[in-house]
Amino acid sequence: MSELLSRDELIAKALYIDGKWLDTDKHFDVTNPANGEVVASVASANAESVNAAIDAAHRAFKSWRQCTSEQRSKKLREWFDAIMQHQQALAEIMTLEQGKPVDEAAGEIAYGASFVEWFAEEAKRTRGDILPMIDSHQENRVIKQPIGVVGCITPWNFPNAMITRKVAPALAAGCTVVVKPPSQTPLSALALAVLAEKVGIPAGVINILPTDDAKTFSETLCADQRVRKLSFTGSTKVGQGLMKLCSENIIKVSLELGGNAPFIVFDDADIDLAVEQLMASKFRNAGQTCISANRVLVQDSVHDAFVHKLKTQIESLKVGDGMDSDNDLGPLINQDAVDKAHTLVSDAMNKGAHCELKGGQDDYLGPLFYRPVMITGVTADMDISQTEIFAPVVAVQRFGDEDEGVQLANDTPFGLAAYFCASTPSRIHRVSHQLEAGLIGINAGAISHYMNPFGGVKLSGIGREGSHYGIDEYMEVKTLVQGGL
Ligand code: NAD
Repeated sequence: MSELLSRDELIAKALYIDGKWLDTDKHFDVTNPANGEVVASVASANAESVNAAIDAAHRAFKSWRQCTSEQRSKKLREWFDAIMQHQQALAEIMTLEQGKPVDEAAGEIAYGASFVEWFAEEAKRTRGDILPMIDSHQENRVIKQPIGVVGCITPWNFPNAMITRKVAPALAAGCTVVVKPPSQTPLSALALAVLAEKVGIPAGVINILPTDDAKTFSETLCADQRVRKLSFTGSTKVGQGLMKLCSENIIKVSLELGGNAPFIVFDDADIDLAVEQLMASKFRNAGQTCISANRVLVQDSVHDAFVHKLKTQIESLKVGDGMDSDNDLGPLINQDAVDKAHTLVSDAMNKGAHCELKGGQDDYLGPLFYRPVMITGVTADMDISQTEIFAPVVAVQRFGDEDEGVQLANDTPFGLAAYFCASTPSRIHRVSHQLEAGLIGINAGAISHYMNPFGGVKLSGIGREGSHYGIDEYMEVKTLVQGGL
């Protein structure tokens, strides 16, 4: 690990508020899911810390919003460069606290940094309108302004990218942020703050507050009228609670929530391509992604061939400590995740599913290691079809015709990602339009990119991140009507 990002330094640097590193009287442990060892004990933000961070962000907003877009762009670009210069060190920190294989972690650092680079450029492209003449003595204009202080709450499965996907557009727009990283992975967040400080992002513009008391954080944040926006990524249940909390002060919300992605394989699909793309979607981060294929729906006539080829691919996956870059899958995040996978598979088996690959918890590697499981004969009434699995479990369900495939795919209150494999142009057109999701992968299982708008419909959320739409979440539209001309 580089000197700049040594573990000891990060432990000492607990809360980053107003450009200062602060401690509190309460600490919580961060553990390595691969071996249960305590990686660090970090200070936990309390209500007082949240108030101090809002004060700092509000003060900084006054000057940050006055910077030219080029000045903001330059600072973001410097942050991007610093992140990429420390890509390997940041990846190692992530693997230590989150478990994903270190090469995959390095991929996330590059993905996370791509939002910083992209929004550094987008900062220069925000613009308003001059409207057609309504009255010959009047001009009507539309300008866009930064919304103000933004609260960001992020999940553990992407400890870096879920932060940059919010903070980069917020800063580009001229907003300042108060970020609560998840208690499982605060070190990746603090490391981003170390680099922001190093490149001179002004004090108060980025505030990072790890805490193990999320409730106090969000209640304190949302009670303050100076906070004008909350951007949350996490579970639907927590998102619903936060939306209620935001209603008191009518805080604008963006919610990136859970999913239950269908992956449909139609009878005209290229089966090898379908297997390859399912592997890409399903096993990234050991299945712990919100857009992971959750229900694999396969048309009758290609079912057996697909299952056979898929099984061979899954058997080649290596499970083990993420620090060994030979491994494809690291541990799951905690015991709850292992228990949840086990319960979902047991329920399916009790209701008649067939086990193709046994896998499951591997005590030899450690209690949180979970080998891939594949079951077939899944039906819509099984819990596994209705629940976000968040583990390397492939649940395969058969269907008859195209209408049934689409109907099964849409039979969920969630709508984040959906995938399908087909080759007939008319079918591709039809199904793309019929699937109820914010992101559709067509013969493609890897669909995240900084240029693609990311977000869901139904219980999967509100708003879009990344892309040229992403910055609008952090701006208000203001109408100027000038008379007497
Ligand atoms: P989670 O909802 O438990 O936690 C997410 C964040 O919310 C964490 O920082 C957590 O500390 C915080 N939190 C928990 N309770 C809170 C409260 N009462 N007030 C304020 N904050 C609170 O989710 P998780 O287990 O960390 O992440 C997994 C979930 O995130 C999955 O459902 C996954 O699909 C979803 N996710 C969605 C996206 C997306 O872009 N749509 C991306 C990644 C993860």
